[in-house]
Amino acid sequence: MLVLKDKYDHFIGGSFHPPADGTYTKSINPDNEEIIASVARGNESDINKSVAAAKGASDHWSSMRALDRGKILIEVAEAIRSHIPDLARIESIEVGMPEAFAAGTLQTAADYLTYYGGLAPSIQGEQLPMGVNTHAYTRYEPYGVVGVITPWNLPLNQTARSISPALATGNTIVHKPSEHTSLSALLAAEIAVDAGLPAGVWNIVTGYGAEAGSALVRHQDVHKVSFTGSLQTGMLIGKMAAEKIMPVTMELGGKSPDIVYEDADLEKAVPGVLMGFAVNSGQVCSAGSRVLVHREIYDEFADMIAKAACDLPIGKDEKFPCLGPLANQVQYEKVLDYFRIARDEGAVVLTGGNAVDRMGYYVQPTIYTHVDMSMRIAQEEIFGPVGVLIPFETEEEAIEIANHSDYGLAAGIWTTDVSRVHRIAAQLDAGQIFVNSYYDTGVEAPFGGYKKSGYGREKGMMAMKNYLQVKSVIVKL
Ligand code: NAD
Repeated sequence: MLVLKDKYDHFIGGSFHPPADGTYTKSINPDNEEIIASVARGNESDINKSVAAAKGASDHWSSMRALDRGKILIEVAEAIRSHIPDLARIESIEVGMPEAFAAGTLQTAADYLTYYGGLAPSIQGEQLPMGVNTHAYTRYEPYGVVGVITPWNLPLNQTARSISPALATGNTIVHKPSEHTSLSALLAAEIAVDAGLPAGVWNIVTGYGAEAGSALVRHQDVHKVSFTGSLQTGMLIGKMAAEKIMPVTMELGGKSPDIVYEDADLEKAVPGVLMGFAVNSGQVCSAGSRVLVHREIYDEFADMIAKAACDLPIGKDEKFPCLGPLANQVQYEKVLDYFRIARDEGAVVLTGGNAVDRMGYYVQPTIYTHVDMSMRIAQEEIFGPVGVLIPFETEEEAIEIANHSDYGLAAGIWTTDVSRVHRIAAQLDAGQIFVNSYYDTGVEAPFGGYKKSGYGREKGMMAMKNYLQVKSVIVKL
């Protein structure tokens, strides 16, 4: 049975430590705007202590047999799985997610650990054919201490996505979760140590990005950063990383197109497209928030999706699928701002467009029509349950509209024409394409952005290489 504490400290070297300067932030429940707990506000001293702990744990962790490191991660995965009810409750309270949805994202968090635990021994160097008098080979070596910075929208899921391949390849971690949502990571790190993860391998410093976050990126003993968050912060981190010539994996925002063709199965496409931009109250980086609909079915589709949106229960504790609140006040005000921008730009509300008159950061599921690609609501990431409907007539036009974006994270295609699927998928500027579903993916499928949605890839086997550097050894015999 979950008992929340009043106060949460940093997790360093396998135990909890109060912040160096004794200051705390507040974690707020977005469903009722009440304070959940105080959370340590980290600064440079906390980061220094945490990096020292990670560095101290590094030799042992990186020099273990990879198979044994993998076994520990698989044990940690099992321990996390057995705590999903508690973790889902925490994320529901802190993020406002419906608990059933949170539990699904946490299953995936555990799956990352299982998957990369299994892959740990698969990394092997090569023997190089440099002639009989030379023995030459490559070694894949971890960076040492990796900084992991995560957002608030899917807290432990995004954390596990980055830390699992980083740990499997022998790195140790200093993790800075979002200032809005630190609690599930703190609980998970404690569970991980109880399950056998050596102390100091996963450390957490909580607090603000401009304080703890930037101190982590700038620290000279941090040799790689995995960042998941907004484009604006990504640009800042990219500049800080350039100052010390440090590689970064950038998982940034999106404004993904979801394209519905005239031959799509609308019974599946309508709920799929709606949840594509509304699940987790639209706070998903790959949300399919630009809905392109073939003109032949546009009116019918618009009627169907408006009805489905109106039928979505509002309230995080309603039967799922339902709509929780936005995760924090900043995000709530940002979405309300976009409602004003949409009005000013002359978009027409098909449904929604307002806050919900109740306690908490709730907004209505919202769909706009009469949108053109020059409008801010068609170009900028809103990160709320907001979709824009845009008609098209030809395949070329659909591709042109779909690619008319600075972002390129994901895209959806709804059609029963298999040749069209591959023709269109090849032409879309996006790192992940969903066909006749949205979000129906797995830990095995590489994920990451084209254009300003980022670089590097998380998930899949290729993420392992993000956390390794290559050394070649040439021995003259
Ligand atoms: P954000 O950029 O505001 O914050 C992300 C993290 O960066 C937080 O931990 C924050 O404290 C930290 N941070 C902020 N300023 C920093 C600085 N100067 N130095 C170091 N760290 C700093 O993003 P957010 O609002 O938490 O998350 C929403 C964004 O994340 C959206 O744009 C969304 O699309 C994106 N996102 C992307 C993916 C992906 O996989 N591509 C996944 C989830 C979310």
